[in-house]
Amino acid sequence: METKQEIDLSIIYNIREVPDKVSGRCDNCNNAQFKSSIKNMIFLRECRNCGMKKII
Ligand SMILES: [Zn+2]
Repeated sequence: METKQEIDLSIIYNIREVPDKVSGRCDNCNNAQFKSSIKNMIFLRECRNCGMKKII
């Protein structure tokens, strides 16, 4: 069975295009802990559980 919106962990999502389903939580696994990094003034958030990446 397919889910409506599958998360591809090889893609870096952008929160403007893919808003958090629940603010501050991973869309994929609902985890609330992230690794954060800043590169070229871009704030990247990576889920500590599943590794989903999103620019926020
Ligand atoms: Zn996750």
